[in-house]
Amino acid sequence: MVSIGSIAEIQALISKYKSQDKVIGFVPTMGALHDGHLSLVAAAKEKADIVVCSIYVNPTQFNNKEDLIKYPRNIESDKTVLEKNGCDVLFLPSDELMYAGRNTITFDFGTLGTVMEGKFRPGHFSGVALIVSKLFNIVLPDFAFFGQKDLQQLTIIKKLVEELFFNLEVITVPIKREPHGLAMSSRNERLTNEERNEAEIFFNALSEAKSILKEDQSAEKAERKVKALFDKHKAQLEYFEIVSDTDLLPKTENYLEADTVLCIAGFMGNVRLIDNMYLIS
Ligand code: AMP
Repeated sequence: MVSIGSIAEIQALISKYKSQDKVIGFVPTMGALHDGHLSLVAAAKEKADIVVCSIYVNPTQFNNKEDLIKYPRNIESDKTVLEKNGCDVLFLPSDELMYAGRNTITFDFGTLGTVMEGKFRPGHFSGVALIVSKLFNIVLPDFAFFGQKDLQQLTIIKKLVEELFFNLEVITVPIKREPHGLAMSSRNERLTNEERNEAEIFFNALSEAKSILKEDQSAEKAERKVKALFDKHKAQLEYFEIVSDTDLLPKTENYLEADTVLCIAGFMGNVRLIDNMYLIS
């Protein structure tokens, strides 16, 4: 694996691969890697000849300074893990390289960017779209791999790719979970052991709501159940929504269709967690 911190250098390498007709798969990350990230790398290895990963904690997608400061950074162990898992090129840009002190472009995705996460993290998806656009233009991948874990991000990136004619295909990778259901996340590193166990409520609430919705097709009943579970729990619920994965708006009928996804977010201690689950899977 080669680690690169310069745009000219990675572009030269990518053009060499392209001249050899190599298919490029790209996995953008913010590091503090876990098995969820590695399932993206594995999916990229299946589809591409060359796997490019990036690690960059993007400041413009953090609306909360404290969250940016506290975001876990494990660069040396990340490098070892990526090398072991078959990453060919690791792009490690600096803030200076990606932004050069500027942050002048914003994206507006309409309701896609203002519902759910957008309500609680203003500006977040604009920052995501900006960094992903920069990275796509540098790496020029044939395939880009994103986790279903960040469902709203995925929907927005698909929109970005479609509307800006990025010449690549977005591949969705399913959520990788801990044995008891907690969705893997770099933020889980900030949970105590006790909080980590308690955080299973997010998965349990989604699973219960899913069975209720499948059985009764009553969103109210499912929502009531989720609220009741959180009412007697240490974790704090921010939202629970039953939405379509295309427009991210609440569904009020036809729950049993393939686009229905249950989304949840909240705090366990002072760590904010998100998760989601398709109704039909
Ligand atoms: P992050 O480093 O949190 O920005 O995540 C980088 C990529 O890994 C994103 O596409 C995430 O959706 C994906 N990802 C994060 N957690 C998981 C998980 N538990 N399962 C699958 N993909 C994940």
